[in-house]
Amino acid sequence: MMDIPEFIIRDGTVLTMNSGRESFESGFIWVKGEQIFRVGDVSELGDVPAGVSITSARGRLIMPGLVNAHGHLSNGVLRGIYDEMPLSVWFSKGMWPVLEALDAETGMASAELALMELMTTGVTTTVSAEFGTPRRELPDAVLTAVRKSRVRALVSRMTMDNPDESDPSQAVPPAYRESVAQAVSEVERLQREYRSALVTVAPEALGVLRCTPEMVSGLHDLAVRSDSPFLMHIASSRDEHESSHRLFGHGSVTELKRRGALSGRTLLAHAIWLDDAEIRDVAAAATGVSHNPVANAYYASGIARLPELLAAGVRVGLGVDGASTNNSQNLWETMKMALLFQKERTADAGFGSAELALELATRGGAAALHMEDRIGSLEPGKQADFISIDTARTALAPRQTLISNLVYSNDPLAVRDVYVAGEAVVVNGVHRFLERDAVLMAANQALGRILERSGLKSYLESRSGWHWRRS
Ligand SMILES: [Zn+2]
Repeated sequence: MMDIPEFIIRDGTVLTMNSGRESFESGFIWVKGEQIFRVGDVSELGDVPAGVSITSARGRLIMPGLVNAHGHLSNGVLRGIYDEMPLSVWFSKGMWPVLEALDAETGMASAELALMELMTTGVTTTVSAEFGTPRRELPDAVLTAVRKSRVRALVSRMTMDNPDESDPSQAVPPAYRESVAQAVSEVERLQREYRSALVTVAPEALGVLRCTPEMVSGLHDLAVRSDSPFLMHIASSRDEHESSHRLFGHGSVTELKRRGALSGRTLLAHAIWLDDAEIRDVAAAATGVSHNPVANAYYASGIARLPELLAAGVRVGLGVDGASTNNSQNLWETMKMALLFQKERTADAGFGSAELALELATRGGAAALHMEDRIGSLEPGKQADFISIDTARTALAPRQTLISNLVYSNDPLAVRDVYVAGEAVVVNGVHRFLERDAVLMAANQALGRILERSGLKSYLESRSGWHWRRS
């Protein structure tokens, strides 16, 4: 019999996020192989067999790893270039020419940068939606970086096929369009090559307006056949909302339901513009939602109806979205903004709590991804995905309000250690498999190439109006 590695981390404050929300002021977590064996108060630890290593986590907080329910790893280096970009620039060279400039090399550099930021700040599971057209190799590059980083990931291959170009906000350039058969076979190829205990590959139809009904149902069928999730971006802007009503006479979630793809394996990104009936439908279908408040605000896309979604029992997680719409990959900031935007929207300062935000970023995300049987809380039998946070940080003091401080006064670099499936991936703030200096250098070079190819370099240099002296 093979020896399963086994270790105990003790004397830290442990937030289990289990259904009873049990926490231990002086607790322990006992890991066997990939799984959590026991969690509890140190007084209940009992005898420990020889060969089980024990480490102290005094002064640390142990909690489940964060779940980033929506993102685009290949956009990692695109931060900063879309700030206040005029629509004229966005349509001419901001959007499609930039995406076309993302090749395997720049895509991988982007993904490693985004993964390094996500993981060193406590994310153990991330979603990433990637285009497989016009560059077939982009999802491969992202999946290669994902594999190297040891993150738990749900990577979707985004597809579009609608040839209707009458609505510029929803039109799909010809180079991005593909047939249902081609989209299906590419997702199947990626599933064969990259599926693992940590990595799930899923199909995504990029909206009911950019995809034909055949594409939506074809990809949802593939998800059923391959027992994978099915992803969508939906109701993600006012434009999309209005186009959907004009074309179909109802919202895009209702249209998705009519196409038979609102299901218990579906994960919707954004879901901002939902009416009451659509919220009820999403809840009844057990469909997951990624709420991305910072990214939504970046493009003034609207504020999703978070209290209504939660009251209806929808599976809601939080997402940072890509670096091109945020720009940070800091899920702690998204937790805080998820609360603040709703306080403003509902004119109710009493909405929510730091505890709610932490729940959405852990067990909420797990439920949205339909992975709640494996991740999202620290419980025996679940995957050992957890993080340790140094609580002796100025932004996290005083100690009496630690949970509030984590969310409202957040300090992402207080995250010190990150474990995925029982493996220490980040130790004392350092990622063991992504080398920081190399990642930063590759990111600089990648953005340089993208700016040259897309024609955005001169736009970016003239944007601020400041006079930079360069010697
Ligand atoms: Zn997105």
